[in-house]
Amino acid sequence: MQAVVFLGPPGAGKGTQAKGEAERRGLLYIATGDQLRAAVAAGTELGLQAKACMDAGELVPDAVIIGIVRELIAQHPDAEGVLFDGFPRTAAQADALGALMSERGARITAVVYFDVAAAAVVRRLGGRRVCRGCGTTYHIEHLRPKQEGTCDRCGGELYQRDDDNETTVRERLRVYEDQTASLLDYYRSQDLLVRIDAAQSIDDVAQAVRGALDGAGG
Ligand code: ADP
Ligand code: ADP
Ligand code: ZN
Repeated sequence: MQAVVFLGPPGAGKGTQAKGEAERRGLLYIATGDQLRAAVAAGTELGLQAKACMDAGELVPDAVIIGIVRELIAQHPDAEGVLFDGFPRTAAQADALGALMSERGARITAVVYFDVAAAAVVRRLGGRRVCRGCGTTYHIEHLRPKQEGTCDRCGGELYQRDDDNETTVRERLRVYEDQTASLLDYYRSQDLLVRIDAAQSIDDVAQAVRGALDGAGG
């Protein structure tokens, strides 16, 4: 098994690129944020716990996140590879991922760093809209649905995430700098980090992502 990690600030465009790229390469797609939102929507104990952290823009405890990832991997023993989006976000999560990989005789082939300035990220998150039905992500300016408020794929209703308001976005960016940004050095020192310019258009970022993953043989 191989693993690819998409790393970068909230709103950098990781999810927009990750879904198609995982499909194209036959990778299991694991987005911890999507898993948490599904738990919130289902009203599980986990969801209730997570929602308070998410609404505040804080991270959900490492043990919870690591548990979710372990369970998903265990559910897909035949997966040839995994694309992680939004995980790991802390040093403890990165350690847990390393341990998980070695247990399975697997390795990380590339950590793609979506490099984009904070100001751009704030604009992106402010205009983000998500489909309630299928989770497809849109943007009110950069990636508009054919019909306003409605998903092109499934006709579902588009909504704005509770945590995509300006106050919470600022806090998420602070948390990213505080707890996640140090992973850049961590993976750089392992020679796994591939930086891409995530300030470009969606199509140009897609090309850069493909180049990064082709280059990594992942
Ligand atoms: P992340 O998964 O990194 O939090 P998303 O992929 O959800 O980010 O993107 C955040 C918002 O920015 C979405 O509304 C998305 O449509 C939009 N977006 C993604 N990539 C770009 C881009 N390259 N240029 C402009 N807007 C983008
Ligand atoms: P973003 O668009 O910021 O990348 P995500 O959907 O990845 O958003 O995450 C939304 C929220 O879910 C985060 O602000 C955090 O509260 C929680 N979350 C997601 N992934 C993790 C993780 N790996 N560790 C801790 N909390 C997480
Ligand atoms: Zn949809």
